[in-house]
Amino acid sequence: MSVSEQARSGMVLLKSELLERAGGTAHAFSARIGGVSEGAYFSLNLGYRRGDDPARVRENFRRFCAAAGARFENLVCSAQVHGDTVRIVRAEDIGWDYETPPPKAADAMITDAKGVVLAVFSADCIPILLYDPVRGVVGAVHAGWRGTALGIAEKTVLAMRETFGCNPADLLAAVGPGISRCCFETGDDVPAAMVSALGDEADPFLIREGGKWRVDLKGLNACFLRRTGIPAERVEASELCTACRPDLFWSHRRLGEERGSQAAVIALTTGT
Ligand SMILES: [Zn+2]
Repeated sequence: MSVSEQARSGMVLLKSELLERAGGTAHAFSARIGGVSEGAYFSLNLGYRRGDDPARVRENFRRFCAAAGARFENLVCSAQVHGDTVRIVRAEDIGWDYETPPPKAADAMITDAKGVVLAVFSADCIPILLYDPVRGVVGAVHAGWRGTALGIAEKTVLAMRETFGCNPADLLAAVGPGISRCCFETGDDVPAAMVSALGDEADPFLIREGGKWRVDLKGLNACFLRRTGIPAERVEASELCTACRPDLFWSHRRLGEERGSQAAVIALTTGT
């Protein structure tokens, strides 16, 4: 995954090389640079319920979507609840005021509607973007540890198959920046949930250190994606840790509630 700085706006964007090469989508993972918010939200806060001025959040989204090549008027968000609901988004779902919570709760969205911009929020949780270049379908997933253990990444791919006839072998997946093993220290509850979901397959992503664990959420999500039949070489993961890089990202673990949010967006730009 590459980090690029837009010369004109100074905005920093992360893009998946796999998705870029495939063409047919506009997509990006945001960093905290290049927006108009101030204080704890400085500067590209894309979180609508963090206490930031909605007009600034809206302007930040406008800039971010423009840099990603997507239409911010076509944004669709869901209220994220750390569950495993996958929402099927249609063209009529677009339209949101950046102020009130989005009307529907879901931690993943999928669509085959061209131009609709799916957005998920994160600040340590793992954002995942999915693309089927054969059927012309995109997906966006928010996976914290609870969603990861619920298999939301896998359930999203299965929903793409059931709803739109996608073959997982055709899919491309980009696992974005989030808290990495270096900083995600947990008690026994998180590893137990992963082992309950994945059995032995979870072992490489759970490291015991003293009485604590270090958990690799990106690796676990990539594992869930591969289980659906997506070939390993079609799954890309960012190395960047949101907790290690305060220059680039907000981290919930580091900052608590006094912070902004990153977002990841994806839209279909061409028909198939
Ligand atoms: Zn770290």
